[in-house]
Amino acid sequence: MYRSHTCGELRDSHINKEVTLSGWVQKTRNKGFMIWIDLRDRYGTTQLIFDEERSSKAIIEKAKNVGREYVIQIKGTVIERASKNPNLPTGDIEILVSKLIVLNESLTPPFTIEDKTDGGEELRMKYRYLDIRRNPVKNSLIFRHKVAQETRNYLSNEGFIEVETPYLIKSTPEGARDFVVPSRMNQGQFYALPQSPQTFKQLLMVGGLDKYFQIVKCFRDEDLRADRQPEFTQIDCEMAFVEQEDILNAFEGLTRHLLKAINGVDINKFPRMTYDEAMQRYGNDKPDIRFGMEFGELNTVAQHKDFNVFNQAELIVGIAVSGGNTYSRKDIDKLTDWVKHPQVGALGTVYVRCNDDGTYKSSVDKFYNQEDLAKWAEVTGAKAGDLICVLSGETNKVRAQLSALRMELAERLGLRKPNEFAPLWVTDFPLLEWDEDTGRYHAMHHPFTSPKPEQIELLKTNPGDVKANAYDLVLNGNEIGGGSIRIHDKKTQALMFDYLGFTEKEAKAQFGFLMNAFEYGAPPHGGLAFGLDRLVAILGGQETIRDFIAFPKNNSGRDIMIDAPAPIDVKQLEELSLKLNIREKENI
Ligand code: ASP
Repeated sequence: MYRSHTCGELRDSHINKEVTLSGWVQKTRNKGFMIWIDLRDRYGTTQLIFDEERSSKAIIEKAKNVGREYVIQIKGTVIERASKNPNLPTGDIEILVSKLIVLNESLTPPFTIEDKTDGGEELRMKYRYLDIRRNPVKNSLIFRHKVAQETRNYLSNEGFIEVETPYLIKSTPEGARDFVVPSRMNQGQFYALPQSPQTFKQLLMVGGLDKYFQIVKCFRDEDLRADRQPEFTQIDCEMAFVEQEDILNAFEGLTRHLLKAINGVDINKFPRMTYDEAMQRYGNDKPDIRFGMEFGELNTVAQHKDFNVFNQAELIVGIAVSGGNTYSRKDIDKLTDWVKHPQVGALGTVYVRCNDDGTYKSSVDKFYNQEDLAKWAEVTGAKAGDLICVLSGETNKVRAQLSALRMELAERLGLRKPNEFAPLWVTDFPLLEWDEDTGRYHAMHHPFTSPKPEQIELLKTNPGDVKANAYDLVLNGNEIGGGSIRIHDKKTQALMFDYLGFTEKEAKAQFGFLMNAFEYGAPPHGGLAFGLDRLVAILGGQETIRDFIAFPKNNSGRDIMIDAPAPIDVKQLEELSLKLNIREKENI
């Protein structure tokens, strides 16, 4: 028996008990006549003591030779500590050790295994198994387990069935590139790893399973952005015989349950906002509504003077920064530099100081009088003591820029509080999205999303105006998940493929299986998927998802621990008949 107790378990009620513990050496302190070792396992740390008076010489010698991260097993007696540590659950006791066995030695770890470590991110990823020994990472993984477990229990209790769908499939377009897997048995042919189980879950509805869920890995070969992982996990769901309202209610229930069970937060009804409203009020389809700073559109109150920049702009829009009038000229210059920064891309900002005496001072006083500026304050909701920041330009661009500024200011003002939760449903997304690069419309969600039935006709004349029964759940300014009511009849699906630029032949080759299934009594259905990694990070009050993933990839999509991706053996390439292609490429 390696242990009678864990390292987090012993209390003063165990005093005088003989125990056996196993774990890692966190720390040793050697005072010559006395040695202490902190022994650690997943459950906590327990202090071990060896001393000249009470322990044998041999065991003291042995204790002197154990190093950090050695794995040891000890037998001993629980005794009361001379100086107790109230910060440690096991801080009332220590173990007077009578037997010590070194189960395994350890090299000195490349970084300290402490809550605050000296290891940089790449080093910690390279030795992830050591990083997992640290409390913050270990606790994040346990936290993730709890969220996943609560999700499974909740959905199972609601009658959802977890079904596994295959990983070796054919491409499903969800807006990213596929990771492909060459098939040895079918030379020259490839599987794709699923970007999501979208078509399979729809087929499960045709199969009559009615309510499906799966906590499932998805794979997307996207250009990497910060905090994106090429493989990630979804809580994927689908339901039959439902309307949008049924789905929103079901998953609002799940989210409410998680917020309660995990964070102890009660949220009654989640607010809802249409996509158009979100864009107008926050310039963003995933607004953080934990704070105000709503957009005020100023065209009607700012386009009547000689200020050409505004007169030529499609949209003039401002936000009120609470207490911003205290900003110095230098602070404002810095903000202006910030919006000019290529990632934001604004040309500059116009600002208005709202003085305490009710007067205004702006960067465009040459063009606008006090009466004009008072109207701006009214539209943006600015009060005395605030600062109004105004951007202008092409509607979509300017909204995105002001939204970035709003988030940045909120961050600086400490308004994005991690332990405050503000969920929001954003509904009525556009069905299609114009893509500049290809010069055509793409499905904004995916090609299986149903247009609002009453707008199908509009597809012919104003495709960009057609809305879908598609929705996102937003939490604290992050898209937690999204979904839609699906097309369930072959005719509409064929029409949709046609609008998206698939020829009949292409649609049949890629999605024939789905179109066929739709000929055998497909029920009306819809669903959604939540991103588990992000959800867990937000519930855990963190911004980055990496600590909640056991073995994450770095910003270049590499696993630096196992060193993947990596070249494969020439023999393997030959078996897959891939060698030739690579050789040919090398010759070019
Ligand atoms: N498959 C979709 C996604 O991955 C979710 C859904 O429509 O249910 O975003």
